[in-house]
Amino acid sequence: MSNLKRLRDFVVATTHVVGASRNEPEILAAVQPLLGDLIAHDDWLPEAYATPDPQYYRQYLLHADPLERFSLVSFVWGPGQKTPVHDHRVWGLVGILRGAELSTNYAAGPDGSLIPGAQERLEPGRVVAVSPKLGDIHSIANAYDDRVSISIHVYGGNIGEVSRAVYDPATGAEKPFISGYSNAAIPNLWTHAEAA
Ligand code: FE
Repeated sequence: MSNLKRLRDFVVATTHVVGASRNEPEILAAVQPLLGDLIAHDDWLPEAYATPDPQYYRQYLLHADPLERFSLVSFVWGPGQKTPVHDHRVWGLVGILRGAELSTNYAAGPDGSLIPGAQERLEPGRVVAVSPKLGDIHSIANAYDDRVSISIHVYGGNIGEVSRAVYDPATGAEKPFISGYSNAAIPNLWTHAEAA
């Protein structure tokens, strides 16, 4: 049973935020607690958007703002799965719903290579931010090699269509990347009878 009201309430509240401000720090400050509330309960994500793939992590679109001011995605990590080193080019908030994730930020070194910072373990309920202004290059991995982890990400654009890059950290060389989405259909938030 999925409590889609939580997801709908998040979408409505975040739509108000991006309609009221185009200022990134204001948006991040307003959306962070909304995402925190959403991931404080693990009773709303429909199974179809929580299903791992045996080989690659999945990125399911849950909602895209019609003006592409934000998008909401579930990342589903099979055991041991991880991203390459990549950037976003828009602001983003990552909230851990289930399991745990290992996050590593990278900074450009003097020779152009990317130097990893300390690896951080993110537990359920945690929300972290990325953006070109805050530090935009990172990698994320499932902290578990024997179970699924799920995180919920909000981005300041239609993230599946954003032209961005993956990196070879040894050289700093970047390769163009458009992620797309793993799903063709999105959850129906608009039947107000709950447990749809
Ligand atoms: Fe990322």
